[in-house]
Amino acid sequence: MIKDQLEKILHSLPKNVTLITVSKTHPVSAIKEAYEAGQRHFGENKVQELIEKQIQLPADIHWHLIGHLQTNKVKYIAPFVSYIHSVDSLKLLQEINKQAKNNGRKINCLLQFHIAQEETKFGLSVEESFQLLKSETFKEMKNISIVGIMGMASFTNDNSLIRNEFKLLNGIFNTLKNEFFEDQSTFKEISMGMSGDFGIAIEEGSTMIRVGSLIFGAR
Ligand SMILES: *Cc1c(COP(=O)(O)O)cnc(C)c1O
Repeated sequence: MIKDQLEKILHSLPKNVTLITVSKTHPVSAIKEAYEAGQRHFGENKVQELIEKQIQLPADIHWHLIGHLQTNKVKYIAPFVSYIHSVDSLKLLQEINKQAKNNGRKINCLLQFHIAQEETKFGLSVEESFQLLKSETFKEMKNISIVGIMGMASFTNDNSLIRNEFKLLNGIFNTLKNEFFEDQSTFKEISMGMSGDFGIAIEEGSTMIRVGSLIFGAR
């Protein structure tokens, strides 16, 4: 069942798009099933749940932290996390850099942008991201790599609204690329699209989709 769903999604994906299997709330056994089907990228949104699962699972899994991250919890995931999609402040980025350094690592980070209508979604504005990327503090960081940006569309059935929000995120990506990362091939990821909207996200330039319920069933 999990295997069939994974294969169905993978068959429909362009080669440059990475499927991140969002395993939050689902047990280790379900992750193992996806792992045995060949899946290696998994996403979790809570630090505690991520660390509990990580120790029980194979070391070659690439773990993505996709939910809001508190500064005081960075140290728990810094030893192993591959990507942090939810960077929304300079302070958080400083802590990730510090903890990555303590572990002799470089951690891939994505800046999260607020693109949805809802008030509750976390994320930076374009202006805030400019301030962050222009700061001396950021320029001195050696143990993080900004590999792209992430966003969540509004929770709605209005596909044209969703599409416009993804277009907005793609536009932000291009702006930042031109302004700050022109000569950096590592800045290349647009993390957008979930179970309900990844088709639209891919049409609008997504390179990383984060899919949970379509693979594991409803939470
Ligand atoms: C839960 C979650 C997803 C996956 O959502 P589904 O609708 O189950 O595919 C993607 N991104 C983030 C940030 C999430 O918290």
